[in-house]
Amino acid sequence: MTTALNEERLLASLPTGLLIGAEWRESASGRRFDVHDPATGQILTTVADAAPADAEAALDAAAAAQRDWAATSPRSRGEILRRAFEAIHARADDFALLMTLEMGKALAESRSEVAYGAEFLRWFSEEAVRIDGRYSTAPDGGSRLLVTKRPVGPALLITPWNFPLAMATRKIGPAVAAGCTMILKPADLTPLTSLLLAQVFLDAGLPAGVLNVIPTSTAALTTAPLFSDPRLRKLSFTGSTPVGQKLLQQASTTVLRTSMELGGNAPFLVFADADIDAAVDGAVAAKLRNIGEACTAANRFLVHEDVAETFAAELAKRFTAKAIGRGTEDGVDIGPLVDERSREKVRALVDDAVDKGATALAGGAVVPGAGWFYQPTVLTGVSASARILDEEIFGPVAPIVTFRTDDEAIEAANGTPFGLAAYAFTRDLGRIIRLSEQLETGMLAINTGVISNPAAPFGGVKQSGLGREGGSEGIEEYLETVYVNIAQPAA
Ligand code: NAD
Repeated sequence: MTTALNEERLLASLPTGLLIGAEWRESASGRRFDVHDPATGQILTTVADAAPADAEAALDAAAAAQRDWAATSPRSRGEILRRAFEAIHARADDFALLMTLEMGKALAESRSEVAYGAEFLRWFSEEAVRIDGRYSTAPDGGSRLLVTKRPVGPALLITPWNFPLAMATRKIGPAVAAGCTMILKPADLTPLTSLLLAQVFLDAGLPAGVLNVIPTSTAALTTAPLFSDPRLRKLSFTGSTPVGQKLLQQASTTVLRTSMELGGNAPFLVFADADIDAAVDGAVAAKLRNIGEACTAANRFLVHEDVAETFAAELAKRFTAKAIGRGTEDGVDIGPLVDERSREKVRALVDDAVDKGATALAGGAVVPGAGWFYQPTVLTGVSASARILDEEIFGPVAPIVTFRTDDEAIEAANGTPFGLAAYAFTRDLGRIIRLSEQLETGMLAINTGVISNPAAPFGGVKQSGLGREGGSEGIEEYLETVYVNIAQPAA
């Protein structure tokens, strides 16, 4: 259990201004906004509320720093990332507590995010020195073709609230490695982790203006001027599909390079030959990690009719055993949802499914009292018309539907405009290969409920997004390809 004293000490030591250049400052409007603890509803602290003029000042700083930053050696950029990686680990307890306070997840989960989030910095510290190109002779022999890479330029990074550290490092890591300057706009529900991260980067030697941070309660208004300013060259967004669609339209004004990590509706398939214990373990991980508030969260459980009853009963047992509470308390597994709106959405989706005939084998209700808690819930007999199968739940609810044939399962899995993650449990290699070829998804986990890995390309197809983060692909999102034709007439 963390003490109130620890929480106070941490909150009192945090920067809560805007970071523009190397300076922490108040907003041009003089306004600040509140950050809440979703487990209690109480205000944790207040943060400077960036106005449009602050966004422009941040772009001034990023644009002014871009040329010198691009000229730094890859090794020196890699070493900054490495120092930041080590500093996050050195302050792992602070980062974990901060995420639990502002977002709600249990401390053990926040600690996992610290390790996962920091790993992007180590990974890209190693990628910084592997940016390469190619050299070839033109087919007619008359010239040499040189292909090189250079940083895209100043980038706007917009992140969601659900993984306050990892969603930022997954963008900052490759941007630093590539030599891009940045403006980070964190989610207004969870700006504190980004502010501590920015301080860590300054301490690690990141030059002034390379990373600017502008928390704001008016995201659309504040970022609007950036989309008509030709100095901005890149948008990397993680968030919901509707907001992503709006931003893609805005990005067309100056034809920005875009990376879009959007919403999901992951199917979790359990075939009749699956190891059911492993499938239940995987389902608990894929559904309850981050209280179900993950874009990769299993959203629909498609289970073969021969094993559905056993699977559902076991899953319900595991969900019922989870301890619900404030994430800072010992033994708590499931924290609150992030705000009232999120809990209301989960409640409405479950109620709609139950109205249409579903049965709650576990949970099925809000937890009364302070905070935005919802019980881990398993639903069976979910009607095809239930909204919960079409919408991203973003909460600890597992709707189960059954299937008979592989074709039926694949068709159901693909029957969504999203295509971010999918999970499948089976021991049949031929089926695994068919699934990897036929499921419309950017990522597929076989016999495991865990998919994210900084060394792998994370991203979706269809309305789940454009581009990839992590892996060797991640840095490419921040690099332009330049081709030089060098005349070389025959001697
Ligand atoms: P959101 O789309 O509401 O907000 C995301 C970010 O965009 C926030 O920082 C928000 O302030 C900002 N924003 C909102 N409207 C904006 C506008 N008009 N102009 C500029 N910025 C704007 O999403 P959220 O509720 O914070 O996060 C949950 C969503 O994120 C879910 O749909 C989830 O699937 C998705 N997500 C996707 C991934 C992925 O990698 N694909 C990862 C995590 C979360």
